[in-house]
Amino acid sequence: MKSTYHPETDAVRIQTHRTEQMEHATPMFLTSSFVFDNAEDMRAAFADETDDNIYSRFSNPTVDEFVRKMVALEKAEDGFATASGMSAVFASFMAFLKTGEHIISSRSIFGSTHTVFTKFFPKWGFSFDYFDMNDPAAVEALVKPNTRIIYIETPSNPGLEIVDIALLATIAKKHNLLLFVDNCFATPVLQRPLELGADLVIHSATKWIDGQGRVLGGAVVGRKDLVKEVYTFCRSTGPSMSPFNAWVLSKSLETLHVRMNRHSESALTIAKKLESNPHLEWVKYPMLPSHPQHEIAKKQMTQGGGIVCFEIKGGLEQGRRFLNNLKMLSLTANLGDSRSIASHPSSTTHAKLTEEERLKVSITPGLIRISVGLEHPDDILQDIEQALEKSMG
Ligand SMILES: *Cc1c(COP(=O)(O)O)cnc(C)c1O
Repeated sequence: MKSTYHPETDAVRIQTHRTEQMEHATPMFLTSSFVFDNAEDMRAAFADETDDNIYSRFSNPTVDEFVRKMVALEKAEDGFATASGMSAVFASFMAFLKTGEHIISSRSIFGSTHTVFTKFFPKWGFSFDYFDMNDPAAVEALVKPNTRIIYIETPSNPGLEIVDIALLATIAKKHNLLLFVDNCFATPVLQRPLELGADLVIHSATKWIDGQGRVLGGAVVGRKDLVKEVYTFCRSTGPSMSPFNAWVLSKSLETLHVRMNRHSESALTIAKKLESNPHLEWVKYPMLPSHPQHEIAKKQMTQGGGIVCFEIKGGLEQGRRFLNNLKMLSLTANLGDSRSIASHPSSTTHAKLTEEERLKVSITPGLIRISVGLEHPDDILQDIEQALEKSMG
């Protein structure tokens, strides 16, 4: 039965059936398996004649609650929750690719996704080609007879590059390919790729969806027949979400709209102020007119999200000094937290790449990525400004 509520209402109100205890908050079903009244019920469940829960690797009521909310938010037909964002990405590839098949991906993607392509794909006879985010039309020239999937991440981590989802959906349809979108940075509050023609949406729930830096999680949502393939792969291979994490994440979804609005408003305020800072070469934010793909951002996103990037004058060394001079912002590998976070990709997450490889994915030597939290925007800005001042002193 389709809900008639707005997505933010569904994110608050979708809940597992109330038990006879009449609890108001949602219960947590920490159980590995489920019992049957008799042999016949058990036989029928195993024969897929009923959708009774059998074992928590396959399904669990708390995990289902989280999935139903994600499905409502992305306006999808069905979904499956995984232990992390990377298991959602990996399961989506493994469910569809056969040996000898090919995938086309945007070049600017999450580091571990790049590792899956370069280190593990060759082992199974999968091949890939990257296309540049500023030339999506070049995708067509990369399509081969064995191509199966187009994969994109938009906005990208950490470079905030944006690809036109609707344009790529048209190309995918024309060549009978599947379009997968990693929607981690935007969340369904700011961008709904399925409405723009994508086939499958992939999430790291660890980031904005949790929003408080507590648990790992992932989700895949989309067309029912496609999700079934992902489910079938996961059911037997085991990257399922824990019910504890699902409980935490389901509660998080109740505040996702409120949080994403605040993260985006603060990020825009901070980005605008930093644009005139004399210690910066440039500032990048999807909703600044100076962003190279600003027109696409306006077309497919309702707000810019919580990540702001800038390039410090003086490159690598100044980037490191800036981190050392911060008083409030956290230095940590996560993003999408209520607490603001600063990171310097060139000296940390992307230090193993050569400078040339980094530049290809828009990681310049002095690039700083700020994950704007829920503190007062003036306090976040003040910490950034004082650290910039001190680093230059
Ligand atoms: C963090 C991240 C992932 C991986 O998610 P995990 O939950 O850390 O496994 C995938 N894509 C993007 C864009 C991310 O930022």
